[in-house]
Amino acid sequence: MGTDEKLTSCWERVVSCCCCCCNASKQEQDRRLDTKDVRIITNPAVADKGEFDTNRPLPSPPGFKMPDRERYIALFDYSARTADDLNFNTGDILEVLDSRAGEWWLAIAITGISVNKRGYIPANYVALLESIDAEPWYFPGMKRQDAEKLLLAEGNEEGSFLVRNSESLKGELSLSVLHEKRVKHYKLQKLDNGHYYISKTKSFPTLKELVEYYSRQPDGLCVSLGKPCRKIEAPQTYGLSYNTVDQWEIPRNSIKLLTMLGAGQFGEVYEGVWNETTSVAVKTLKPGTMDPTEFLGEAQLMKRLRHPKLIQLYAVCTMEDPIYIITELMKNGSLLEYLRKDKGAILRITDQIEMAAQVASGMAYLEQQNYIHRDLAARNVLVGENNICKVADFGLARVFMKENENVYEAKEGGKFPVKWTAPEGIHDNKFTIKSDVWSFGVLLYEIMTFGKMPYPTMTNMQTVQWLAKGHRMSCPLSCPKPLHAIMMDCWKDNDQERPTFETLQWQLEDFFDMDVTSYVDSARY
Ligand code: ATP
Repeated sequence: MGTDEKLTSCWERVVSCCCCCCNASKQEQDRRLDTKDVRIITNPAVADKGEFDTNRPLPSPPGFKMPDRERYIALFDYSARTADDLNFNTGDILEVLDSRAGEWWLAIAITGISVNKRGYIPANYVALLESIDAEPWYFPGMKRQDAEKLLLAEGNEEGSFLVRNSESLKGELSLSVLHEKRVKHYKLQKLDNGHYYISKTKSFPTLKELVEYYSRQPDGLCVSLGKPCRKIEAPQTYGLSYNTVDQWEIPRNSIKLLTMLGAGQFGEVYEGVWNETTSVAVKTLKPGTMDPTEFLGEAQLMKRLRHPKLIQLYAVCTMEDPIYIITELMKNGSLLEYLRKDKGAILRITDQIEMAAQVASGMAYLEQQNYIHRDLAARNVLVGENNICKVADFGLARVFMKENENVYEAKEGGKFPVKWTAPEGIHDNKFTIKSDVWSFGVLLYEIMTFGKMPYPTMTNMQTVQWLAKGHRMSCPLSCPKPLHAIMMDCWKDNDQERPTFETLQWQLEDFFDMDVTSYVDSARY
């Protein structure tokens, strides 16, 4: 039996059971069966024509409980961006009516500010009710270092905690707890019967029970578990709304330009508002700088690239000049400006390496997708809140065309950012993911020098000649030697000897330690 069939028969059992218990009238039974239909109505335009009033509150017979699998809990607040969206707050219960669209679901609010209203919700803002994902303390993808940073951030208190996937042991979980302004980590282990434990003397059938137990008493932990760690920000939605995911040419008048954020060689960039609700960045292209058809082809590729460390392309306005490219807004502008402004005042070495790791993570995704950036540099990385970095301007990336050969041939006469370009790019017009790795080495230099121009005393021509003699930039002041060694690996003459972005990502993420001894030994505590 398929999932849907199971669900339907389960529903029917519940409905009929309920009817015989409460002797409901035929009319009432029909009305209840109507509620079943609510779940399969997917076209609001049809539904709203009065054939079926789906805005009507769902009847809830006494003792009736919808199957949990259909109910979701909001993990974040969400403000409706269009008249078709639902407003909701963290903790609100939503029943999903149609999840076929994948990224935006049609739902009805069961509790909270939009109770009984129906509309679209971003799927990545909710979790299945009573599943582990719905627990406010469950941060599955969080790395140990990020867990420490988050727990030490403002708003958390003694005993704040989270449960995350262990980095050192795949498939296992760790508990991170804030105690006396430090973070302690405990391994959550599993017995053969699936029960969880920290100390073998006490095991629990579910994680929830384990958390509840240690919330009541420390029983050997450094402190009783207190409040779940605060979540800092909601994730990016996929696209601006449910209907821009596919139709992403949007009316120009839905965009209002506010302040200018900067200007590049192709045009100006503005902070803007879409639909009077949503902050966005708007890149305006100088008329004639790009062929709209070529750009649209490129944009089709960019749209498919989705990763938390890549700037998301939301929508375009290409019907008239100037072309608008609408992307997510990054509060702190380009990494280059950010580094230059800071000059080490706030950013510490751990922050710098963490930022580099984020860029490597975005690039590792491009590497996996067989895309080449071709212009990786601090000016093309954007910074949001909490030093979040995302790779931008990968619009010039090209999916590789030749079988077995990740090579993109640059157009003749094309401009190179010479000091960031690998020798094979300069001499042979050969661009691969390995030439991006070379550029990444230069970007590491920019990060470690707070945005200094690479090869500061040399012209472009001198740089090319100097590199050809086998020279490389030396270790910048206060840059750890092992980090310079990573730069040197990126600048190997033979591109095949350069590391992959995947390797760079883990080298940087684990730079300070992946010291399993930092875990509190459960056998000893
Ligand atoms: P180039 O035109 O050579 O790519 P560039 O990358 O500096 O140069 P743009 O991408 O046009 O030029 O960006 C210009 C400036 O606008 C950036 O330096 C940055 O400060 C700002 N900016 C661009 N995109 C965004 C964004 N999504 N969010 C916030 N600020 C942005």
